[in-house]
Amino acid sequence: MDRKSFIKSFSLLTFVPTAMKLQAILNYTDNKIQPEALPVLFIGHGSPMNAIEENEFVNGWRKIAHRLHDVKAVLCVSAHWETAGTYITGMDKPKTIHDFGGFPQELFDVQYPAPGDPLLANEIQSKFKEHIKIDHNWGLDHGCWSVLKQFFPNANVPVLQLSLDYNKDPGYHYELAKSLSELRKRGILIIGSGNMVHNLSKLNWAHPENGFDWAIEANTTFKTLIDNRSHHELTNYVKLGKAIQLAVPTPEHFLPLLYVLAMQDQDEDLQFFNDATVMGSISMTSVAIGLN
Ligand code: ZN
Repeated sequence: MDRKSFIKSFSLLTFVPTAMKLQAILNYTDNKIQPEALPVLFIGHGSPMNAIEENEFVNGWRKIAHRLHDVKAVLCVSAHWETAGTYITGMDKPKTIHDFGGFPQELFDVQYPAPGDPLLANEIQSKFKEHIKIDHNWGLDHGCWSVLKQFFPNANVPVLQLSLDYNKDPGYHYELAKSLSELRKRGILIIGSGNMVHNLSKLNWAHPENGFDWAIEANTTFKTLIDNRSHHELTNYVKLGKAIQLAVPTPEHFLPLLYVLAMQDQDEDLQFFNDATVMGSISMTSVAIGLN
């Protein structure tokens, strides 16, 4: 808004109620304070144990976290919340969901008491009425809290989750994400949490430090396509050959990557971090877009 139209908009405000005027001023002030979009992140979350372990991946997350500023809320698209239709969490105190089995009690004891933000959830829902509904039952699953516990250990940043509609194709998810990218300019940190390569049926317990050849090949192919902004090919990943089919046997851990890539502006750079394949069939490779 230039100076002239800003003044003009104030003269129009003479005719609207005081509360609305205040909101208009706040909106303008907000825009002035934070014109820059926040970065958007794809996090390869891997094992839930990353919530309580010290390792290179957790350190990588913390390094990125230290470079983030003025985060007013987090919107997390996790691989672990699939629904018929798209939902956004609308509760003020989302519960910590321990959606896994076979891990030590210490992990089940973890609570991540970040608040929600019902007002923000309602605002997003009302803007995307036909596409997003409010949820009051979910909370924060481990795709979200195991990562955020390392990013914001004090749990003092409000967190919302957005579900993945399992009835939609990758192109739909990509377009929905594009329309949500304006939230980045509102101080909302958008995180997609999954794994580019994720095949639990082929885990290699004998050599947990390495990836299989096909997993490394798939990870490299994905990175090249991401670097080249070949988003059309990435949304059509099922056509990319055998290694990719092994790497993405089901879509839920891959789709959060598409949400993140869809939010990349023309002039924005990206960087990879935690770039590694482990346990044979898991890639921890993560992407930061717009991180200066
Ligand atoms: Zn997972």
